[in-house]
Amino acid sequence: MKFPSLNTQILLGALFGVLLGLLLGGLDADSSVREAGFYASTIAGGIFVGLLKMVLVPLLFTSIVVGVANLQEHKQMHRVWVSTLVFFSISMAIAVLLALVATNIFSPGAGMHLGMFAEAMKDFHAEKLTVGEFFSHFILGLFQNPFTSLAQSNVLAVVIFALFVGIALVIGGSRYRNFLVLMQEAFDLVMMIVGWIMRLAPFGIMALLVKLVATQDVTLFASMGKFMAVVIGITLVHGVIILPSILYVITRVTPWQFWKGAREALVTAFATSSSSATLPVTLRCTEKHLHVRREIAGFVVPLGATVNMDGTALYEASAALFIANLVGVELNLAQQLIVFFMAMIASVGAPGIPSAGMVTMVMVLQSVGLPAEAIAILLPIDRLLDTLRTAVNVEGDMVGSLIVQEIVKTSEPGAVSSR
Ligand code: ASP
Repeated sequence: MKFPSLNTQILLGALFGVLLGLLLGGLDADSSVREAGFYASTIAGGIFVGLLKMVLVPLLFTSIVVGVANLQEHKQMHRVWVSTLVFFSISMAIAVLLALVATNIFSPGAGMHLGMFAEAMKDFHAEKLTVGEFFSHFILGLFQNPFTSLAQSNVLAVVIFALFVGIALVIGGSRYRNFLVLMQEAFDLVMMIVGWIMRLAPFGIMALLVKLVATQDVTLFASMGKFMAVVIGITLVHGVIILPSILYVITRVTPWQFWKGAREALVTAFATSSSSATLPVTLRCTEKHLHVRREIAGFVVPLGATVNMDGTALYEASAALFIANLVGVELNLAQQLIVFFMAMIASVGAPGIPSAGMVTMVMVLQSVGLPAEAIAILLPIDRLLDTLRTAVNVEGDMVGSLIVQEIVKTSEPGAVSSR
């Protein structure tokens, strides 16, 4: 009998995870089977995520250094850099616009009011975050002692330091040839370890989903159902229709080809709710399955994992309008424009970890005078919504790599391409 491929095993793992989670969730709260199931899934899921985080920083650092050095050498850095940022901005703007239009049309908070959630908000104090504080925190966080940022997995600061090292390697020329070779070899080595970790992915993903499904509070779905449906709907429209259409128009890669190459990363993002933890898998899929050149994937994917979050941006905009509904405030066009920009900025600032969007959302709410405490209402349903938005965040990075590769290829006829 032929053994199913890793991709199929991962999908089966996800399916079993959901089914088992439903089964466990249905058991009595004090049942020992339920407790044993919880422990087992916490440990197995924790090991999988821990292994991914173990390789994250070395992979991130080496991939950017090698990517930047090669791009600089071939004088393509400028074009890659510009097209990456343009794509990230346009796709996030489309996501937020979609969220604003859909939430205005469906107004999921209509007929509800803040008083209904007084209990949830009673003991909750949101950390206030002004726009100034946010920017200074964000900008100062970019430049850090590299050992601190490597040790703390401060992804954005690692990206910045690696960019400097990559550029210095090219300027230094042949003098630093050995260091570049070392970085290339280190990258290959870590990717080999990622390949081993992926063998555990079906079990890790199953365990993460068992716990997620079994711990959902279904009673909340009745009161928050409409809002959840709107958010899930917008996220799906963006992830299943808009991003694949842009990809097809620019690169002629069909949605099916993309899904086949990207699904390991999409399912991992769904189960872990963390773009950072998924990064090793995203890089592997982008290079190995979607055939994006190493130097382009090595630059676009790590940068995207920290700044390009379409799913988070659309969620923040939609949630702000929902809370305005609850408070009974009608946001005018100017205020909605503020939400539009703030949602994009807040998603850029959100780190790729579970529920990070909730923290930066405080800023979006405050910018139009909405109560930050209202976040307490969204927290119980966040883990569930985070699954899909993280998958779309990661999808945007892979789509971006393919598009940037196409732009660089077509604008430089002589450029080499592995596609
Ligand atoms: N969990 C998301 C990510 O890692 C961030 C967020 O929206 O909370 O991409």
